[in-house]
Amino acid sequence: MIAVGIPADVARGIRLVSLDVDGVLTDGSFTSEVSDSAVTESRRFSVLDGLGIHLLQSAGLTVAFVSGKRSAAVEARARDLGVEEVHLDLPFGKVEAIEGMLQRNGWSWTQVAHLGDDLADLAVLERAGLPAAVANAVPEVREIADWVGEVRGGEGAVREFARALLDSRGEWAEQVRKYVEKGRRS
Ligand SMILES: [Mg+2]
Repeated sequence: MIAVGIPADVARGIRLVSLDVDGVLTDGSFTSEVSDSAVTESRRFSVLDGLGIHLLQSAGLTVAFVSGKRSAAVEARARDLGVEEVHLDLPFGKVEAIEGMLQRNGWSWTQVAHLGDDLADLAVLERAGLPAAVANAVPEVREIADWVGEVRGGEGAVREFARALLDSRGEWAEQVRKYVEKGRRS
């Protein structure tokens, strides 16, 4: 895996890594169980992605989960990973959710990388400085993306993207070294 397709100047400008959830952090499937009146949904996440997100954060980037679907499992995963920007169940769509983050932080769309897989991501991908797609993305999303991964959602696609982005910024090796050093001390 090499960072083909992410120019260093684009990569260095990124402040916000916005991740779609279903089909990106997962393979797109979920189980739904109904008991009494409560519905419990479960999802399967990749440990590879967890560490990829950690390395992005360690490099000073803000990582956000942006999904149209509310899910306690996704909220728990975000808490686990220290992802504070969690925008689920979006009545006004993903664009509005990201614009809120941009306004709060004084960032612009050119500083946004978004990794998506489906049509609901198109409006964001049209605006993002770095539009990116996972390997299983639908043709419309692959078409608009400047970077398309080789790994499918749920199988480490976010890790692949994190590596490509940090590598292009010249930070991957340093972040891995930092991580290894931390493990050695703890
Ligand atoms: Mg999706």
